[in-house]
Amino acid sequence: MDLLNTLVDKGLRRELPTREEALAVLATSDDDLLDVVAAAGKVRRHWFGRRVKLNYLVNLKSGLCPEDCSYCSQRLGSTAGILKYTWLKPDEASRAAAAGLAGGAKRVCLVASGRGPTDRDVDRVSETIKAIKDQNESVEVCACLGLLSDGQAERLREAGADAYNHNLNTSEETYADITTTHTYADRVDTVRKAHAAGLSACSGLIAGMGESDEDLVDVVYSLRRLDPDSVPVNFLIPVEGTPLAKEWNLTPQRCLRILAMVRFVCPDVEVRIAGGREVHLRSMQPLALNLANSIFLGDYLTTEGQAGQADLDMIADAGFEVEGAGEVTLPEHRASAGCGSHEAAGGCGSHDSGGACGSHGSGGVCGSVPAPQPNEARTDLVAVRRRGAGTDLAPNA
Ligand code: SF4
Repeated sequence: MDLLNTLVDKGLRRELPTREEALAVLATSDDDLLDVVAAAGKVRRHWFGRRVKLNYLVNLKSGLCPEDCSYCSQRLGSTAGILKYTWLKPDEASRAAAAGLAGGAKRVCLVASGRGPTDRDVDRVSETIKAIKDQNESVEVCACLGLLSDGQAERLREAGADAYNHNLNTSEETYADITTTHTYADRVDTVRKAHAAGLSACSGLIAGMGESDEDLVDVVYSLRRLDPDSVPVNFLIPVEGTPLAKEWNLTPQRCLRILAMVRFVCPDVEVRIAGGREVHLRSMQPLALNLANSIFLGDYLTTEGQAGQADLDMIADAGFEVEGAGEVTLPEHRASAGCGSHEAAGGCGSHDSGGACGSHGSGGVCGSVPAPQPNEARTDLVAVRRRGAGTDLAPNA
């Protein structure tokens, strides 16, 4: 297929595909899907080999958010039965992080619900970062605390944070449809603040919120312009009790096309499959490792993922290997440039994107369940997190 040959050539040269080419990836047929995965897989292997980076989420503060992000189970007015708790103490967060690191993660993502941190909150998180780094010298720490005020990114950097996550989530044009309490421009501003402070930028999207192909391409092109080092791709988990609970729009094939498009547009960037991996890719998860070079290990913020050991087994069975603590994730040209090469950068995160908090119903999911049809609700695959941070039960890692 000429399209795929062109996209592979561009990906190897870090050349931006045209919008028409990106849209064409999303419009490919199921008959062509394996060819699409193979082509994007060439780009993935060129820049990242067969390595898979594992990241581990620690939800420092859960629920009770005053913002109204419609995809989020922690939002204002959410009736989702999620865990709700205030700030974990540094030693509690450090213990949760240690479980993820023992399971093979090299990055810990410290996330807190809320519009953005107070200066006292930055102090708390700084103490937590120090507690984690005291125990694990080589760990990468990413903070995801919402919108940043002047000076806060610098303080997090001084405290030892390596990265900041703040997602754009969706296109600028549709942003007001999913959130009214802050703007797309607010999000871009925080990404730029984080970048200016020398933090590695992590910024991504959520697919499956009813957006068009054009919206998806728009947000991925916006991300390319911001030039984050990592791009988490969340697949909306329509959690009961949130406004988007009925938005079951994704199929495994659609998810694979989206990941391939992101890889072609951001070829040398850490593309991470984030929330919704188990719920929407289901048995196609191993195929997606040919597109993304990074995943979350274990559970998400408010929902449960598959068992951490299942993540590790999947990586090994698919012929990939877990990236070691001593290995550099990014290609040499990007790693050596550091954050200085970016146009902006910035946190990527949506703390709770339907994404970062996806989950599945583990147990009982497989076996006798009939093959899902497009748009079929799979509430059987969504389980609210009941273990790890904020509970007395051991974390999943
Ligand atoms: S995504 Fe973050 S800011 Fe938005 S409602 Fe959820 S916790 Fe609050």
